Amino acid sequence: MKYHDGMEGLPLHISVPSFGMDVFHVLDAAGADAWFVGGFVRDALMGRAAHDVDIATDAPWQDVQAACVAAGFKTYETGVKHGTLTVVPDGTHAVEVTTFRTDGIYLDGRHPESVEFVSSLEEDLARRDFTMNAIAYQPGFGIFDPFDGAGDIERKLIRVVGEPEERFREDALRILRACRFASQLGFRIDGDTLCAMNTCKHLMGSVSQERKTHELDGLLMGDFPHDAIMMTADVLSYVLPELVAMNGCEQQTKYHCFDVLEHTAWAVQHAERDRLVRWAALCHDMGKPASAFFAPDGTEHFYGHALVSAQLARGVARRMLMSQAFADDLALMISLHSEKIAPTLKCVRRFLAKVGGRPELLRALLHLKRADLAAHAPEYAKGAELMDEVEDVLDQVLAEDAAYSVSMLAISGSDVMDTGVPQGPDVGRMLETLLEDVIEERLPNERHALLARVRSLRDA
Ligand code: ATP
Ligand code: MG
Repeated sequence: MKYHDGMEGLPLHISVPSFGMDVFHVLDAAGADAWFVGGFVRDALMGRAAHDVDIATDAPWQDVQAACVAAGFKTYETGVKHGTLTVVPDGTHAVEVTTFRTDGIYLDGRHPESVEFVSSLEEDLARRDFTMNAIAYQPGFGIFDPFDGAGDIERKLIRVVGEPEERFREDALRILRACRFASQLGFRIDGDTLCAMNTCKHLMGSVSQERKTHELDGLLMGDFPHDAIMMTADVLSYVLPELVAMNGCEQQTKYHCFDVLEHTAWAVQHAERDRLVRWAALCHDMGKPASAFFAPDGTEHFYGHALVSAQLARGVARRMLMSQAFADDLALMISLHSEKIAPTLKCVRRFLAKVGGRPELLRALLHLKRADLAAHAPEYAKGAELMDEVEDVLDQVLAEDAAYSVSMLAISGSDVMDTGVPQGPDVGRMLETLLEDVIEERLPNERHALLARVRSLRDA
């Protein structure tokens, strides 16, 4: 173990998973100064479950590789240009080992033009984004924490290392990382840091959309999205301009006690932790500001807002580079979110047909409706039991043999054409009509009955 002259530490012990210790011991035996750093140390100090283990060291990556290969570990040159070698000591777990470095200048606000390797751990920690992420741990030494990250963790505070504006100008992605960490950890953002996030938010224009989407995904999937959205709405508005109109859009109805933005933030908070459901919760009322209408008695209505929201959600999905299938599901769920679903066989079959015969999408819609309901005024925040009842009926529908999608009908498109209906959109329309008749129990799902109905439709 290297002797750390003059370095002050806290003699804390962190329990490191054995695969991390294996790499540490090999580096230590090779004479390297190795430290656990980053999210692993932060989360360990918070008592959160361990995640990926990162090590920082004074050894160049070639020396790290030589020592690890000699110990029988697999290594991958994943980022050696920036000093990072990925080591897999046990065939399963990856440990990223990175040589102490500082980042050079950032011309594009995202990638350092160069990195400079340095000999001191403190310099390496100084390049890191937030104080809670700039803590190092070495077994035997304890915690090395020159920026009081442990204190900030105790205070539940996200604070930039160094001068906030300067750090956001170097890399504007850090702005969204702060928003994401706020949601994942339930921390507040330090006043100077938040102020600089607002001042620099336009710099996020130079960050790749994939990275921005990744951070927003992380924010929405966090444990504290309500607080994060409310705290950083002005910052998020740069990447989600739809939030601007939602902020302060009052809802003068007995059903609501929040403006559209806060209602939305609560809906996300209450939503099942599923990417589609959380994005749907974020977008479900985006169309309200554009559909607001006051009746003569002063009551506000938002007729048609679900369809406007669905359109806006499509725009969001496109900007976020989400897949077409994800965008379609998102828009469909949102367009249906304010429709009443009764716990009856007919109604559930009808809704299954509306979601293209996909039970999982109907379950997602029920989750969205639960989240939406839970974010209403307390006296109207009930109804989750109704959704449970609908879900029970859904299980019943799935267990029985009844048709709820065109493909489950006893005849197909070619049967329709065999009766003389020409190929084209009429075939599909006819099948939809048959499905409706079957769902409403006006017609049995039997070949003969269906063909007879096709003929009468054709001749009508
Ligand atoms: P998590 O893995 O839970 O998202 P993390 O803190 O481990 O959180 P990573 O993206 O894995 O985040 O990065 C590891 C460490 O690298 C961070 O803890 C931080 O010290 C540093 N880091 C990552 N991205 C940046 C950045 N954009 N600017 C400065 N430092 C960064
Ligand atoms: Mg990490």
